[in-house]
Amino acid sequence: MKEDYYDILGLSKNATAAEIKKAYRKKAIKYHPDKNPGDSEAEELFKKAAEAYEVLGDENKRARYDQYGHQAFEGGGFGGGGGMNMDDIFSQFGDIFGSAFGGGGGGFGGFGGGFGGQRRTKGSNLRIRVKLTLEEIANGAEKKIKVKRKKQASGTTYKTCTTCGGSGQVTRVTNTILGRMQTASPCTACGGSGQIIESKAADADSQGMKTEEETVSIKIPAGVVDGMQLKVTGKGNEAPGNNGIAGDLLVVIEEAQHETLSREGDNLHYDLYISIPEAVLGTSKEIDTVTGKVRIKIEEGAQSGKILRLRGKGIPSINGYGKGDLLVHVNVWTPKNLNKEQKTFFENMLDDEHFSPQPQREDKSFFEKVKDMFS
Ligand SMILES: [Zn+2]
Repeated sequence: MKEDYYDILGLSKNATAAEIKKAYRKKAIKYHPDKNPGDSEAEELFKKAAEAYEVLGDENKRARYDQYGHQAFEGGGFGGGGGMNMDDIFSQFGDIFGSAFGGGGGGFGGFGGGFGGQRRTKGSNLRIRVKLTLEEIANGAEKKIKVKRKKQASGTTYKTCTTCGGSGQVTRVTNTILGRMQTASPCTACGGSGQIIESKAADADSQGMKTEEETVSIKIPAGVVDGMQLKVTGKGNEAPGNNGIAGDLLVVIEEAQHETLSREGDNLHYDLYISIPEAVLGTSKEIDTVTGKVRIKIEEGAQSGKILRLRGKGIPSINGYGKGDLLVHVNVWTPKNLNKEQKTFFENMLDDEHFSPQPQREDKSFFEKVKDMFS
């Protein structure tokens, strides 16, 4: 069981954005690897706090986490369930600490020392939308999507920048009346990446990169929700240089409208129309479900507004706990243009006691049924 993000940061569920930021700042400073060299426990706590903040610090992600828990970000075959690597964490620092770490120029090269000496750049993330049918959402799907990614062009080679020695920044010491001042700024020779091009392929851009179309296979777990974002680690743009790591591919789920079924959370609704004779005599009807058609029986004397609940015929919960139901709403269709004979038939029935309404307790009003459904 994964630890609750609020617990990690020592917060209550209704913490404000400012409180979340403050709590994370405190933890990050306390467990920062530069302060705790070689302490793997501190590093673990540092990573946990960063992962918690990545979610709680983002309004949308936090809302999803509050609703779906950890599952919201981990569906099925997605990598990266273990959370963030150090590069992710440091790239997040810019927003939190501003100039508190690393000084101006947006650099945080000062952290480099503890993590292999050389600056690692991460490629940018790519974002795509994937449209899914309700059937695909209910059953889970594997999608093959064409993605245009920036990749290092074959034939391009990189070497460590000689100006900065790979750190991505240059330090200058100046003597002032206040004493020696040390300032760090991004290396202009390599643009801060710590790597320069040694030889470049003819068709590559100035960074040695080339945009290529690649087919990425994406496993989508059952129960996803419109607007949900899934992450495929390492399938974003590659970064230039020998130490670069690729960004991520962010997959935004879009739910296609179904012809006859509508979704409400994990439940589905289906409007069934039957004729007056069918309502009187009883009938059986074939209806759509997300796993194919099923035949349902309508008892004789069916009332308009009746709701039949097909248990487990809804959408599986994204959390993996159970399935929603399919609610079939019975509507009795009243005809408009009757011929003379038909009209006479109904006219004769106007005073017939069998046709006068005698609602029973079980013929509850629609609103009472709706109340039951959600209680
Ligand atoms: Zn450089």
